[in-house]
Amino acid sequence: KRSWMARLKAGLSKTSSNLTLLFVGAKIDDDLYEELEAALLMADAGVDATQFLLDALKRKVKDEKLTEAAQVKAALRTLLTELLTPLQKPLELGRHQPLVMMIAGVNGAGKTTTIGKLAKHLHAYDQSVLLAAGDTFRAAAREQLTIWGERNNVTVISQESGDPAAVAFDAVHSAKARSVNVVMVDTAGRLPTQLHLMDELKKVKRVIGKGMHGAPHEVLLVIDGNTGQNALAQVKAFDDALQLTGLVITKLDGTAKGGVLAAIAKTRPVPVYFIGVGEKIEDLQPFNAEEFVNALLD
Ligand code: GDP
Repeated sequence: KRSWMARLKAGLSKTSSNLTLLFVGAKIDDDLYEELEAALLMADAGVDATQFLLDALKRKVKDEKLTEAAQVKAALRTLLTELLTPLQKPLELGRHQPLVMMIAGVNGAGKTTTIGKLAKHLHAYDQSVLLAAGDTFRAAAREQLTIWGERNNVTVISQESGDPAAVAFDAVHSAKARSVNVVMVDTAGRLPTQLHLMDELKKVKRVIGKGMHGAPHEVLLVIDGNTGQNALAQVKAFDDALQLTGLVITKLDGTAKGGVLAAIAKTRPVPVYFIGVGEKIEDLQPFNAEEFVNALLD
């Protein structure tokens, strides 16, 4: 079985080869910078982060009088790591009883899978978990979740009423009564352009706050790492609506380009708590900037 790092590297291999090959035997000239610019843009780093990295790199090359391509690559590694390090922040447990987390995302981003992985992660830290089945649109989804909860020792609160805010409110109350450590409030997938559904999310958040003052303590957005530049638009829209506290970026083992983390770091630096590197329950890893940049540049 391949390690998660090997899967991350395989997932980012296209970007990685684009970024590393251009340094091989290269002279430090405008051609090199142009190739690097193209590689970063192709990797979904976006215009702002790409420009920022290029400017910083040129300055570093000049200031430090770098003459070898390998030195320039090392300088890029440092700059990328510095750019991504502010995104690195662990999810802190035990700050509240219960700790209430709300989880949002577009359909297919990997929300359900991530909730399962998170439950396992939390159990590993001796945290009991209660899940609010806030995806009230699909009855089948609700049933599936209940079965999954029974198997995995996670209490699942669901209702037929169809009001996700009411389910969330109930869940917070049950969690208090049962002394559960962490509540995860799942929400139905939605696009940021579906304004009434975004309003519904805001309502869920508000009602959670009525159930427990100061909650939700965490508002996470799950995004598909293959979404490209649109991922940034999702982060902005959900952050504007919900004031996100963290991101989970999934499917980085697939054919993700990885550069979107640079775009997020430059324009909307919401911490990345975890990355998804596979479909299995253990395939969730805390984000580490240095490891990630190494996967991109080695
Ligand atoms: P949801 O609609 O947001 O709840 O998305 P799901 O959790 O149902 O995930 C959609 C698909 O993505 C499923 O086939 C998952 O197995 C897959 N998936 C989720 N996370 C990852 C990941 O980190 N890596 C890979 N390769 N697949 C993932």
